Amino acid sequence: MVAVRKLKNYIGGKWVVSRTEEYETVFNPATKEELCEVPLSTKEDLEEAVIVANGAFETWKEMAVPRRARILFNYQQLLIKHKAELARLITLENGKNLNEALGEVQRGIENVEFAAGTPTLMMGDSLASIATDVEVANYRYPIGVVAGISPFNFPMMVPCWMFPMAISCGNSFVLKPSERTPLLTERLAELFTEAGLPAGVFNIVYGAHDVVNGILEHPEVKAISFVGSKPVGEYVYTEGSKHLKRVQALTGAKNHSIVLKDADLDDAVTNIVSAAFGSAGERCMACAVVTVENEIADAFIDKLQEKASGIKVGNGLDDGVFLGPVIRAENQKRTLAYIEKGIEEGARLIADGRENSPDNGYFVGPTIFDGVTTDMTIWRDEIFAPVLSIIRVENLKEAIRTANQSEFANGACLFTNNASAIRYFREQIDAGMLGINLGVPAPMAFFPFSGWKSSFYGTLHANGKDSVEFYTRKKVVTARYPKANI
Ligand code: NAD
Repeated sequence: MVAVRKLKNYIGGKWVVSRTEEYETVFNPATKEELCEVPLSTKEDLEEAVIVANGAFETWKEMAVPRRARILFNYQQLLIKHKAELARLITLENGKNLNEALGEVQRGIENVEFAAGTPTLMMGDSLASIATDVEVANYRYPIGVVAGISPFNFPMMVPCWMFPMAISCGNSFVLKPSERTPLLTERLAELFTEAGLPAGVFNIVYGAHDVVNGILEHPEVKAISFVGSKPVGEYVYTEGSKHLKRVQALTGAKNHSIVLKDADLDDAVTNIVSAAFGSAGERCMACAVVTVENEIADAFIDKLQEKASGIKVGNGLDDGVFLGPVIRAENQKRTLAYIEKGIEEGARLIADGRENSPDNGYFVGPTIFDGVTTDMTIWRDEIFAPVLSIIRVENLKEAIRTANQSEFANGACLFTNNASAIRYFREQIDAGMLGINLGVPAPMAFFPFSGWKSSFYGTLHANGKDSVEFYTRKKVVTARYPKANI
């Protein structure tokens, strides 16, 4: 057997062997093939990266903003050139199908494009006359070393929510990617360096909780962007704040879609199937629950079952495959346990993902429960797998009341042609990202990724103008110009 490659950390523009003895195997979840080994780096590795990043910050922050932006433009070009290669890596390590992976690369590139706009985005405000002979101006500055902690489900897009904007604003960055999907980030680093980024501005330390704890405690880490599950996000937010850092933590979800009786059912079904089973349900914007009006529930569910039964499950690199594997054996086991739990709690299993799933990877087929109620575990918990719950409701008010009982409030969708219903939904639903007649209302790079309730901890969200605020600090200069004889 050929030994798989051991990844190295990227520190100061070089690949550096971790001090750790502990490595974790990274699998292709569609084949269980070993792809590489990732170091579970030590706090000392993290310390080294932060020192290097802090040194690089001193010169990087001085580089004129348009020059920094030009490096981002070069980076965008290289990412476009390598799009196919990057997408293939995502499918290999994450399992989502190649089309979805290409979509993810595109989303990442859009973040780089947005970050290249810093000469405009970092502009301050001024008032020429705030008192007699007095003017005020505010200027934006970077904050120092920023750290990013990312999840497995979007190996490219989520890190790209963080480091391009942080770096374009003049900060240096240390990324701790998910230990389950580390491969793609190697290429992100290499291509950024090729684009002209000076050594030490972007660093990667692979690992798990030791690196995260190192980030939380290190005095030179000034801000943390976290994306992942609710328990870890709460921990990162609490501990990071305790250590007086800026923290934004984007966490779990249980997104509801509401289908009203006037909706185009075929269109709603197409969108919901894609939102529930795309990326194996491993999306923080996945549709986990459909609330459907009684009057059309049977017709809607028939169409949903038919569409779901046509989904091809398998290796995301193969033609026609829509639904890839979940990420690891324990995620598959956990999902099967939720299916058992749903049956035990009295929900009706109308599509059973345990049947006919290939057994060479961590597959779970499309699973649908009808007759779900809000006292069931499958309604309450984030399952993060291709499992969809259906709740039948009398009307929109009941649908919104149902969704608002969830502790999570990331996204919510409404399928209807009724303008009053759309407005009512917008005003009454507890969720930060809404979709009208579409399935996955993930905002593009230019708008904030705006979860509410237990889906987000912090004040400033990722992306959009919020990200510029998060990665910069301001100086407000009040200046008096005494009258002179001019
Ligand atoms: P996770 O919380 O297990 O891991 C996220 C990161 O935290 C990883 O880098 C991991 O190494 C680290 N981590 C895990 N356990 C830790 C611990 N005990 N101490 C310190 N660090 C730890 O999440 P995941 O399984 O990789 O990703 C799935 C989750 O991410 C889902 O809950 C999903 O909803 C969420 N997510 C949210 C968004 C959003 O925008 N709200 C986007 C993507 C994913």
